Amino acid sequence: MTETKYIFVTGGVLSSLGKGITAASIGTLLKHKGLRVSVLKLDPYINVDPGTMSPLEHGEVFVTKDGAETDLDLGHYERFLDTNLTKNNNFTTGQIYKTVIENEREGKYLGKTIQVVPHIVDEIKERIIKAGENKDILIVELGGTIGDIEGLPFVESIRQMKHEYGLNRVMNLHVTLLPYIKTAGELKTKPTQHSVQELRRIGISPQMIILRSEYPIPSDIKRKIAISCDVNEDSVIAALDAPTIYEVPLNMHAQDVLKPICRQLELEDDEPKMQKWVELVDRIKTPTHNTTIAFVGKYLDLKESYKSLTEALIHAGANIDSKVTIKWVDSEKVEDEGAQKYLENVDGILVAGGFGSRGVEGKIASIKYARENKVPFLGICLGMQLAMIEFARNVIGIEDANSVEFDTGCKNPIVYLIDQFISHDGRVEIRTHKSPLGGTLRLGEYPCNIKEDTKLFESYGEKVIYERHRHRYEANPKYKEQLESGGMIVSGESDGLIEAVEIADHPWFLGVQFHPEFTSKLQNPNPSILSFVKAACAADEE
Ligand code: GLN
Repeated sequence: MTETKYIFVTGGVLSSLGKGITAASIGTLLKHKGLRVSVLKLDPYINVDPGTMSPLEHGEVFVTKDGAETDLDLGHYERFLDTNLTKNNNFTTGQIYKTVIENEREGKYLGKTIQVVPHIVDEIKERIIKAGENKDILIVELGGTIGDIEGLPFVESIRQMKHEYGLNRVMNLHVTLLPYIKTAGELKTKPTQHSVQELRRIGISPQMIILRSEYPIPSDIKRKIAISCDVNEDSVIAALDAPTIYEVPLNMHAQDVLKPICRQLELEDDEPKMQKWVELVDRIKTPTHNTTIAFVGKYLDLKESYKSLTEALIHAGANIDSKVTIKWVDSEKVEDEGAQKYLENVDGILVAGGFGSRGVEGKIASIKYARENKVPFLGICLGMQLAMIEFARNVIGIEDANSVEFDTGCKNPIVYLIDQFISHDGRVEIRTHKSPLGGTLRLGEYPCNIKEDTKLFESYGEKVIYERHRHRYEANPKYKEQLESGGMIVSGESDGLIEAVEIADHPWFLGVQFHPEFTSKLQNPNPSILSFVKAACAADEE
């Protein structure tokens, strides 16, 4: 059995400091040393998972291979570490309490009074240990900020693990803000000192401080932090804003971040092999080409809700040495003002996934524009469903074609609701319009059989692929023949379900029911997104 070592990453002063990127970056460096690394995100909120939260509330919901709806940081971890995580790699206070209360109802605690300490804390520790099984290193990121009431049971679990395993198996990194006060012309260390004091008050002394700063940090400030926060001077690391998040591991490596980590956790001090990573980052920073993709969506106020997709476009670009400039197009504006105005000079059009009827007609108008003007097109999930509706309406002539999501009584439901479905863990699910929102979607990885001589086959070069899903509605196979007779090709299917469609008479038009963006990694871009960006690049060069 491997003796897993744990690196806990907490945040101080305020949220949005990029703790997730910090954790992922350190994980990336350790992985490139040849260690088996995994990551766990602890979310102190009460929701069981972020699946029912509005994207505006929480950014994107990331979906794992095994169908868990998780925090978007898991996406960063997968993209950085080039790995697939599972439902064991993210849990919330809601899940912890749910399990403990269920255990209590079943009488598993033998009549004891159930308390935060030990019962909640034990459940947290058990899950941390499970997530680290068979790994050399488990990086654990605690969501929220030190001082939050709901974070306390998690901090207590971390404290106990340090007590039980000792400092050569448990390390604490604290990420804080080093604000720059313009009028004084100074970087201020006080918030960091206070945050570390707060952490100590609840029993944790961090051994490394990572400072988010907009300005380079002079060595006297680092020394001051080292003394006041009681850490070694080589354990005060600067995290400056980087032109791309993928540069963060390299910036940390340049400061020898692994040295104090290897020293404390008794790891070999050999160099991580970052050659390919360095090349990809160079291409992101100084690309030879540029291509413009119109991103038609409705949550444009919060671009975080499309995080995996925007990252996947960066991965594709980096691998073909092109910058991908995103032109954000609000589908409601297209509805009001027409597609031409917004889509005229772009090299590719992307219609992303979404829920609800707002902005749908604008997306359909954008798809029509891409089809008629032969602009490379990728439709994802709702994007594919709408591509079929557009084709049915405007090519086949089924004027009232629609999805039952937007018109429950629709006479020609091109997209419909199948009432019975075998879910990822083998449960038979009944799905109706009234199904509860949480956990009733088709989630996680499913196989897709690809038809040869199609764009999809060209992209993947394989007959069977596995991609992840997150949707409730399905394309209606009843219309397959009719659509195909009009020139649409069903290029991907899974167990009778339509997974991908294309248009024969078009240079590059693909709609996919799955979310290819969830499997894209910097070092392994998703094949369909890569082909789409290539097609857009080619269109640009014409
Ligand atoms: N709203 C659609 C459905 O539930 C599409 C979902 C999506 O794009 N993720 O099927």
